[in-house]
Amino acid sequence: MSKRDYYEILGVSKTASAEEVKKAYRKVAMQFHPDRNPGDKAAEEKFKEAAEAYEVLSDADKRAQYDRYGHAGLNNGRGGFGGGTGNMDDIFSQFGDIFGDDVFGSFFGGGRRGGGGARARGVRGSNLRVKIKLNYEEIAKGVTKNIRVKKYVSCSTCGGSGAKDKGSIQTCGTCGGSGQVRRVSNTFLGQMQTVTTCPTCNGEGTTVTAKCNSCKGEGRVYGEETVTIDIPAGVQEGMQLSVGGRGNAGERGGPNGDLIVLIEEEQHEELHRDGLNVAFELYISFTDAAFGTQLEVPTIDGKAKIKIPAGTQSGKIFRLKGKGFPGVNSYEKGDQLIHVNVWTPQHLTAEEKTMLEKLNASPNFQPKPDKNERGFFDRVREMFS
Ligand SMILES: [Zn+2]
Ligand SMILES: [Zn+2]
Repeated sequence: MSKRDYYEILGVSKTASAEEVKKAYRKVAMQFHPDRNPGDKAAEEKFKEAAEAYEVLSDADKRAQYDRYGHAGLNNGRGGFGGGTGNMDDIFSQFGDIFGDDVFGSFFGGGRRGGGGARARGVRGSNLRVKIKLNYEEIAKGVTKNIRVKKYVSCSTCGGSGAKDKGSIQTCGTCGGSGQVRRVSNTFLGQMQTVTTCPTCNGEGTTVTAKCNSCKGEGRVYGEETVTIDIPAGVQEGMQLSVGGRGNAGERGGPNGDLIVLIEEEQHEELHRDGLNVAFELYISFTDAAFGTQLEVPTIDGKAKIKIPAGTQSGKIFRLKGKGFPGVNSYEKGDQLIHVNVWTPQHLTAEEKTMLEKLNASPNFQPKPDKNERGFFDRVREMFS
């Protein structure tokens, strides 16, 4: 593909001054800028073509080469922007010096250049991590906790500005208040501009000439704050909740960090959590299992009465529907599973032994599991379902 003449692309004469070239490029680039022609491939190609032309014609040495030898004179290893396949970021990065912030910022909305963006006041505070231990009841219902957190808080003397008074906040002399500085570096493409954060004011655009005595200019002091944290029902060990803006205060009015709350579960003496379900090991005597009984079991929400039918086997699992934990992000609710253990006596008197021997002779005392008696593995499956 033969390349178009660079002067033709920009619409200038061969004798055009550097200023005229710049002006012409500005016009063409704005016309074909991708932001004004979204999705228009032809416009994008013209935009790149113009950038390539400007790249050469704005550089006195390259322009002289081009004037003498044409495109061939520039093909030493690469050719301009590589015939229209130039990297858009490279093109945007050279924009700053041509258009200036005012035009670029207001016209194109900014944000395309690396390192650019609006200047921000201060430095963001760091995130803070705290642990909160909750018992099963708190987890089941959700809870509001007020906790005292040691952290950086905004300085009340200076209102976070770090300055002694209003008069000691001044526009930064290095960047003139823009918060950004431009650096020109020589690359094989020619001179490239990069826009970086001003090192003097850290991008804030202002400097403080007299510092606040309370915070030594930092705009924050180490202190304490009581933070109210709403913990939803159903959280689990290891979960993290983020409370926006309640971490360390930023420096010189910068935004606050977040407070990250790590959930820990307090172990329950009798209940054991398994996901949404709660497991409870119930021990009953042989006679209770044989006669049947009524008893109370602990749940995460107080006591519950249950009925043990006569003839209950050891290993039986009773399910209390909906007595488990709620899902933290759903309407699901777990169950409480009651695992029956029939207690086998471990010490017997001589009299007890005689009685039991007599009973053992009875046919009713011989194990006779029927077909409905589910196996061990079925019960385990139910336990953890
Ligand atoms: Zn202060
Ligand atoms: Zn500055």
